[in-house]
Amino acid sequence: MPRRKRERIALTDEEGGMALLQIPGYDHQKPQEVPLEAIRDLMGDCRLCPLGETKTNLVFGVGNPNARVMFVGEGPGKNEDLQGEPFVGAAGQKLNGILAQAGLTRDEVYIANVIKCRPPGNRNPRPEEIQACSPFLREQIRSVWPDVIVCLGNFASQFVLRTEKGVTKLRGQVHTTGHFAVIPTFHPAATIYPSEWLPLLEEDMRMLGQWLRDNPPGPGKA
Ligand code: SF4
Repeated sequence: MPRRKRERIALTDEEGGMALLQIPGYDHQKPQEVPLEAIRDLMGDCRLCPLGETKTNLVFGVGNPNARVMFVGEGPGKNEDLQGEPFVGAAGQKLNGILAQAGLTRDEVYIANVIKCRPPGNRNPRPEEIQACSPFLREQIRSVWPDVIVCLGNFASQFVLRTEKGVTKLRGQVHTTGHFAVIPTFHPAATIYPSEWLPLLEEDMRMLGQWLRDNPPGPGKA
């Protein structure tokens, strides 16, 4: 897979200072216009930030490209880095389990992370790394154009809602940003060990299920 250097991917500084990708062949990409494969192809073996040098696999995303619900996590952990897929291992099993609380299966949803390459030692992603990588997530969201974005953990919640508030303050309600309903909740990995957060995560998933029942699917959604 070809390496992508900074000069090979054009960025503009639109929409609140967040960089947008310029995808070859698309002047101004509309919702659901650019296939996910085109975004993945554009990334190649991305080296836009130092995490590209230390990763094993770039973890793009997985799931239904036409999903009503898109889950957004923080970044790959050890298992995800090795397998090239988000939410595998213990955190993935936990996610699969809580999806049932919303009446969903993993095949029905799309899952991606804010950061596509694993930070060494699972450290927190740095602001400049989030800034470098976030245009890819933005284009994935534009491609899938879900009705609901579920943000798993602080980083995803703060990125999508553009806030500095923590997830404990944000969770428990449905937010709105532009076209999207947004449900911030805990990262499944934070509830693996006995934790008072698991019932709250399950409560948020039941709220998601209720929202899906109460609201008709958006354009192009089943
Ligand atoms: S984390 Fe994102 S921006 Fe950095 S190298 Fe990986 S794909 Fe590129």
